[in-house]
Amino acid sequence: MPAKRDYYEVLGVSRNATDEEIRKAFRQLAFKYHPDHNRGDGAEEQFKEVNEAYEVLSDPDKRAAYDRFGHSGSDGLFVRGFDGFDFGFGDIFDAFFGGAATATRQAPQRGAPLECRLEITLEEAAVGCEKQIDITRTENCSECQGTGSKPGTQPVRCPNCDGAGQVRRVQASIFGRFTNITTCPQCHGEGRIITEHCPQCRGTGREKLKRNVTIKVPAGVDSNTQLRMRGEGNAGTRGGSSGDLFVEVSVRQHEYFVRRGDDILYELPINFAEAALGTELSVPTLDGEHKLKIPTGCQTGTAFRIKNKGIPHLSRGGRGDELVTVSVTTPESLTKEQRRLFEELADSLGTGKNKKRKR
Ligand SMILES: [Zn+2]
Ligand SMILES: [Zn+2]
Repeated sequence: MPAKRDYYEVLGVSRNATDEEIRKAFRQLAFKYHPDHNRGDGAEEQFKEVNEAYEVLSDPDKRAAYDRFGHSGSDGLFVRGFDGFDFGFGDIFDAFFGGAATATRQAPQRGAPLECRLEITLEEAAVGCEKQIDITRTENCSECQGTGSKPGTQPVRCPNCDGAGQVRRVQASIFGRFTNITTCPQCHGEGRIITEHCPQCRGTGREKLKRNVTIKVPAGVDSNTQLRMRGEGNAGTRGGSSGDLFVEVSVRQHEYFVRRGDDILYELPINFAEAALGTELSVPTLDGEHKLKIPTGCQTGTAFRIKNKGIPHLSRGGRGDELVTVSVTTPESLTKEQRRLFEELADSLGTGKNKKRKR
């Protein structure tokens, strides 16, 4: 049997090539020597060799063993015989589609994100606030630190897949024999089997826990703002980091303020006399009362802008304004005295005049 070529040499990459470089090299060579494209002498042999090299170098564990022990390391420890025409669907799939179904099955995985909703008042949106919220999330079991093993016991290497987490099944097809790589059914891809389950999590390594999380809401948020709380989601697996918690904010409708962007709209009802004679009135703002001068002859719909009394801009400095729109109200009932005065006023103003509104 001829001496096996160095796997790095086979793929034409350096010993410290990145996963991406290895994948790229494999993709090119697999295309070049694939039996569908190349029927030249030895193409099949080279295709096999390329696959074998990739099989080892694309797997961090196998690659590390190969780096330390050479072919004997990868053969003896991890790679079982390559008999016949043999390549893995998993490998091909990874290489061509960038999928990493087989390669990352045992890698650390980030926890799943969580979502929750938070309702706040307009005042809270204007100044920012801190809110406590109850969530239920998955955390690593506190008893076994997420290993699933009863404290003091160790998991053992899976005998079915010898720790690889995958099993290969050779299938015949019209293109030749294919090796179908599937997740080991016994260890579910973990490569290890728990001998004694942790009593607290029953071997899952996970617990569902209710947590009270403090959410800092910045001034200026609006409905549909999404806040991201890093690492407050579900715990990762195999040492992966926790996911994030996404908080969907909704701002409750205010009793008399309407928000438009970062401006606040307020409708100020005044009576005939105030409108006709002019006056000074106190209007509410988010910061408390504000004195507003109503000029003589003020009409319904006249708007006044009170600068910097709106909502702070979320992404830049400064804040919006409050826009006060005057609405002249007609009295619904009159006292005797008021009726007399209105009648006098009516005589003075005359009827039937000024029907056309001036613009
Ligand atoms: Zn546990
Ligand atoms: Zn297994």
